[in-house]
Amino acid sequence: MAINILTLCYLIASVTFILGLKMLSNPATARKGNLVAAAGMIIAIIGTIFLYEENGQRLGNYIWIFAGLLIGSVVGTLSAKKVKMTAMPEMVSLFNGMGGACAMLISIVEFNHLAFAKVPGFDSIVYPPEAIGHVIIILLGLIIGSVSFAGSIIAWGKLNGRVKDFSFNGQHIFNIVLLLIILSLSIYLVGWMPENAALIFYIIFSLSLLYGIFFVLPIGGADMPVVISLLNSFTGVAAACDGFLYDNKAMLTGGILVGAAGTLLTILMCKAMNRSLLNVLIGSFGGGNSAAKTGAGGKEQGSYKEISLSDAAMVMSYANKVMIVPGYGLAVAQAQHICHELEKILEEKGVTVNYAIHPVAGRMPGHMNVLLAEADVSYDKLMEMEHANDEFKTTDVVLVLGANDVVNPAAKTDPASPIYGMPILEVEQAKTTIVNKRSMKPGYAGIENELFFQPKTSMLFGDAKKVLQDLVAEIKSV
Ligand code: NDP
Repeated sequence: MAINILTLCYLIASVTFILGLKMLSNPATARKGNLVAAAGMIIAIIGTIFLYEENGQRLGNYIWIFAGLLIGSVVGTLSAKKVKMTAMPEMVSLFNGMGGACAMLISIVEFNHLAFAKVPGFDSIVYPPEAIGHVIIILLGLIIGSVSFAGSIIAWGKLNGRVKDFSFNGQHIFNIVLLLIILSLSIYLVGWMPENAALIFYIIFSLSLLYGIFFVLPIGGADMPVVISLLNSFTGVAAACDGFLYDNKAMLTGGILVGAAGTLLTILMCKAMNRSLLNVLIGSFGGGNSAAKTGAGGKEQGSYKEISLSDAAMVMSYANKVMIVPGYGLAVAQAQHICHELEKILEEKGVTVNYAIHPVAGRMPGHMNVLLAEADVSYDKLMEMEHANDEFKTTDVVLVLGANDVVNPAAKTDPASPIYGMPILEVEQAKTTIVNKRSMKPGYAGIENELFFQPKTSMLFGDAKKVLQDLVAEIKSV
């Protein structure tokens, strides 16, 4: 009976995961979707703790289990409350790494159960034939989980600037050789069941961690979004392996959903950057080469012109169509509310205002959508890149707010640029472009932007929030 109720708990959890994921696809229902899936996860966890039975025995160890749950919940809640919106990708990377670490630790524990279990016909490290499937799943969970854990920790360090890009000549060959050694040792372990199986298992474990580190270390510049979603899908697959291992339907469904969603997101991100996954993984993109230091094509840029607040207010007030291009700087300045205010007062003056959203603007997938939804900007006003690019030709003023890489024309014009090939928002097609940022410093990919030096572009320097506050005041007085 207990088992049937447990199966029901897993069924409910699986349904909530699917519903939650569906609701996450729309900003209006996303928050509720998260809560629905979290409720399902709680049902699965409580059900497992109190109803799971093996050989007629319940789990026990309640003090350990609840101490772990308590510590994890407190750390998770505090860090989620404290984290700044701009540091979300780092946190996502760290949490993803923890998922990989769980899968890795489960594989280690279960390998030891298999290897040293004292059941008839199951001596020491000699597996019975029916255990081979288990060993394969354990190894898959170990390898994928370790790569995901080590890779996510490096990605976390790179996003917060603690870890620098690092590569050496022949690194891709080194990585391929490492992967081949891991695969060969795994085949040897499963196929030959050697006496020193434990030693080989821990060598595979160490090499997988090493592979995770060297896999992410050289990937730089603007390619991190792709790597983060790829690692996310790895963690999902590792969790699904554990679901197989324990015959736990909720874990299996959850893992498959994360794995599939992560894979789809990876494909979409690659498409958004117009690059193949292989190219991202072996390209060492955005590594700060000479083009990065001097700008497009390595040529020196000319001079840029500035615009005063009152002139910017005037130009925007008398425009028919204004397009706002939000970027990472808008999130840093937390200027989304005042940005919405600007949109409203311009519309009161009869100006049509829309937002052009680049898929990798900011520091996480959907960052700008989340940011603008927070300020109650209507979803109908957000234009996807292709649509926005058609609109720029008939736009009077583009206001770029803290965006840089996503409007850099070098992506189209300069084959030597590390972001060459990435589709961008073609703001230079509009009649006038006003760029707000604090200085002439480059963005995430570390490269100069020739847009800032073009004749139709004017720079409006300052913190986005302060500039928008002053701009709103000026426009009110026009
Ligand atoms: P960028 O990082 O290219 O540029 C942001 C600009 O904002 C900077 O040049 C900075 O210039 C300016 N800025 C910073 N703070 C402020 C402020 N307070 N007020 C005004 N301006 C400010 O951002 P984009 O959004 O254009 O591009 C995103 C980049 O991040 C891409 O390269 C993308 O690949 C990468 N990325 C994206 C992820 C995702 O999932 N979306 C994840 C990881 C990386 P200054 O210092 O002069 O003010």
